[in-house]
Amino acid sequence: MQIVRNGGEKTAVGSSEWFTGVVYLDPVAVPSNGSRLSASMVHFTPGARTAWHRHPHGQTIYVVEGVGLCQRRGGPIEVIRPGDRVFFEPGEEHWHGAAPTRFMIHLAMHDVDEEGRSATWGPHVTDAEYGAAPPIDA
Ligand code: MN
Repeated sequence: MQIVRNGGEKTAVGSSEWFTGVVYLDPVAVPSNGSRLSASMVHFTPGARTAWHRHPHGQTIYVVEGVGLCQRRGGPIEVIRPGDRVFFEPGEEHWHGAAPTRFMIHLAMHDVDEEGRSATWGPHVTDAEYGAAPPIDA
């Protein structure tokens, strides 16, 4: 048994290579001893979002607070709220993040690949792409 106490690790700030805006990440499950399960609690500040990316084995996100947005390549931007769960297919290019005026917190869960990679990263989501989101009060 291993307990990692709250406060035992510093909250990480998301790299500007992979995120636009300010994003904070806390590990929830770390791959080890043959387990490939990786999970993180991610806090997106208003307007913050991932770059376009893909997960080798797909990914589930579960929204726990705020209002968020997500999109798969070629699809519409979807508004997501607490209790919503989204699965991105293996290799499906997508992004996720906060609405422009709201925080969004989600639990992200995925299996890493043989090399321990959780994602492959592409271009940032431009302001024009992000600005195509539907209003969140509709
Ligand atoms: Mn993702």
